[in-house]
Amino acid sequence: MGPELNSERERKCIFCSIIEGGKPRNFITETDKSIAIVSLEGTPLVLPKRHVNELNISECIEDMIDVYRLANRLVPVVKELYQVTSVNLLENRGADAGQEIDHFHMHILPRRKKDKLMILRVSRMTDEEREKIALSFRDLLLSCNG
Ligand SMILES: [Zn+2]
Repeated sequence: MGPELNSERERKCIFCSIIEGGKPRNFITETDKSIAIVSLEGTPLVLPKRHVNELNISECIEDMIDVYRLANRLVPVVKELYQVTSVNLLENRGADAGQEIDHFHMHILPRRKKDKLMILRVSRMTDEEREKIALSFRDLLLSCNG
């Protein structure tokens, strides 16, 4: 894979275009390197602002550390919003594992005992629903983190 192919992939990346477009409606929070948004399922996604895929992931450890730091800040918020005591921090790598977008991203999934990851099967939310959830996340983030 040459650099031309990588930039071609970045141009087509939905996450890169969301980040380039400024704060999306489903924006939760950000750092210099990472951003958290509400997924189509209504749960947080944390991703590096620069395009990190399976090919360049080993060169992007700093970005991944920052994603984990931001995800850790969101864990108490997810627990509060969904009234759960447990979460999965989940990365899908490869289509067969459920990865739909080739840009590294971390799911924070609220879990209940024996739920069999039911949260992944709920119907996809509208933009308005995701915007409302993003607002709840932002409010709770303020109260959970100081
Ligand atoms: Zn991207």
